[in-house]
Amino acid sequence: MAARKGLVIVYTGDGKGKTSASLGAAMRALGHGWRVLIIQFFKGDWPVVYGELELAKKLYPQFEVLQLGKGFVKIMGDKKPFDAHVDAAREALKIAREKMLSGDYDLIILDEVNYALGYMDFKLLEPSDVIEFLKQRPPKVHIILTGRNALPEIIEMADLVTEMKEIKHPMKKGIPAQQGIDF
Ligand code: ATP
Ligand code: MG
Repeated sequence: MAARKGLVIVYTGDGKGKTSASLGAAMRALGHGWRVLIIQFFKGDWPVVYGELELAKKLYPQFEVLQLGKGFVKIMGDKKPFDAHVDAAREALKIAREKMLSGDYDLIILDEVNYALGYMDFKLLEPSDVIEFLKQRPPKVHIILTGRNALPEIIEMADLVTEMKEIKHPMKKGIPAQQGIDF
């Protein structure tokens, strides 16, 4: 078997499937007995039960999902001080780094991290923070970053970049998010 080389993978674009693709990769990795960590930068505020979180409760410690963000930023009735979001995002990246360097994980997914790097008029993390994180990764660890509008600097560092392109989305017909498909 070929030597294992940790990849930096980016799922971006405006079509649905970025987080879903990373969960597909997680399923494969788990099947090989690998340890998988997902850090979600924004989820946690929405009052739904995420399937991946429920699964992680069953598969822990092989599969771990941490929702470390403070939820929606400046939308959906967010009243939290902006600094609280910044602190949470920095803390999330710090925890991701500690876990990555622990050597205990084979695949680490930074879900929606691209939004933390700049979306609408907010920015919770500096590109250099994430670039530094990627540079520090152990050679065998795979990292997946998701979220729309991946920065050129991040794309430059990645080994694999896929852009999800929207052709159709049920939301456009007014169909709400569906359990098992969207969460
Ligand atoms: P998923 O988690 O379903 O794979 P995603 O990670 O590609 O989606 P995000 O940008 O993280 O998409 O969006 C989170 C939520 O917004 C998801 O519930 C998703 O279904 C929904 N969504 C994604 N793409 C679109 C779109 N083009 N139009 C409307 N809603 C979308
Ligand atoms: Mg997503």
